[in-house]
Amino acid sequence: MRAIFIAVGSELLEKDKIDTNSIYMAQKLQETGILTDMKVVVGDDITNLSWIVKNACKRAQLLIITGGLGPTEDDITREAVAEGLKRDLEFKEEIAADIAERFKKRGIPMPEINTRQAFIVQGAEVLPNPMGTAPGQYIDDENCKILLLPGPPHEMRALFDKVLEEKIAPLSNYYIYKRMFKFGAITESETDSMLAELYTRYKNIRTTILASPGLIEVHLLGRSRKTVEEAQTAVDELAEKIKERMKDFLVTERDSSLEQLLVEELKTRKLTLSVAESCTGGGLGNRITNVPGSSEVFLGGVIAYSNELKMKLLGVKENTLKRHGAVSKDTAREMAQGIRALTGSDIGLSITGIAGPGGAAVGKPVGLVFIHFASEKGDTGVYQIFPGERDVVKTRTINYSLSLLRKQLET
Ligand code: AMP
Ligand code: MG
Repeated sequence: MRAIFIAVGSELLEKDKIDTNSIYMAQKLQETGILTDMKVVVGDDITNLSWIVKNACKRAQLLIITGGLGPTEDDITREAVAEGLKRDLEFKEEIAADIAERFKKRGIPMPEINTRQAFIVQGAEVLPNPMGTAPGQYIDDENCKILLLPGPPHEMRALFDKVLEEKIAPLSNYYIYKRMFKFGAITESETDSMLAELYTRYKNIRTTILASPGLIEVHLLGRSRKTVEEAQTAVDELAEKIKERMKDFLVTERDSSLEQLLVEELKTRKLTLSVAESCTGGGLGNRITNVPGSSEVFLGGVIAYSNELKMKLLGVKENTLKRHGAVSKDTAREMAQGIRALTGSDIGLSITGIAGPGGAAVGKPVGLVFIHFASEKGDTGVYQIFPGERDVVKTRTINYSLSLLRKQLET
């Protein structure tokens, strides 16, 4: 079964809003073996939308449309779908009464325009929306099922999850099986040149390589019309070959972020961490505190951007800064030791570097970053020269630090 997704809303064509609904749905559909073939974003325009609907129904067996079900003039999904499918719109008393009841409960009179939401495409099944006034609609149109859902993501999700389980998943004629890898210290093209010869041999597996600064993900999606075991066998076979070839770069096989993995590792080892950040400006602390429960192991940190603060808060020696500079192994070491002493954590992690575009000096190019760990067991310091713009250098530095500390803890 193939799906086409249509996001309706003029705001989605401008700079202010992006379509996140399709991302949520594509993943959920994929889990049930349904692949999304196309995503289309259409403004609030009846002619355009009805044209897309008419044509999409010839290409896919499932059409999902979100947005444009509100009460205002620009909410044209109902009309456009009816036109595209050559059906009428029907007024449903029950829906109108339901909407009126919602307003009554909130103690406010129902605006007249809200009655527009009581129209459904002829023959559609109404999907009650517990989170809002616009109900969803499900239309069984010969070879194509059409699902209309409200645009606000929290309303869409609640309705979609239910309808997926009850109506759409049973229509899927594929079993799927997925595995993923995250690799570090390797580029996207290097990964592809190491793996292309392997994965191209598996025609029934969709292999995707995704790159973000400092981290490469490889996703394997196997499909079978017969059994999930058939999909799994093929994926596992390819996965083992990939793992063997890429073992030096493997970060994890789980769909967890680097910060989640680090926090878990610290918890397992009952160790606390604090950070002293210069060029990442608190970005590392931010990432760690994004993990729920990180307070168990993360004490906090200092953003010591200026030399003064490096000295004042972290005890970096003036002489060290003068002789070696703020971006140096020695400064990084004193920062790591300083934050550890200041907070009493088991591990002190420091970062100092040149994120660019300015700030380079002889022997110190843009992208040069020193990372240092101080602990009871002793110290480790490394440096890297990261490519990319300022924000990319910062992200790479954070990813590298998270990944390296976890590795250090494991050994
Ligand atoms: P509507 O159902 O068209 O009234 O949409 C209401 C609101 O839902 C819009 O203003 C957007 O903020 C949000 N919305 C609509 N479509 C999407 C989408 N595809 N992804 C994320 N948000 C959306
Ligand atoms: Mg809209």
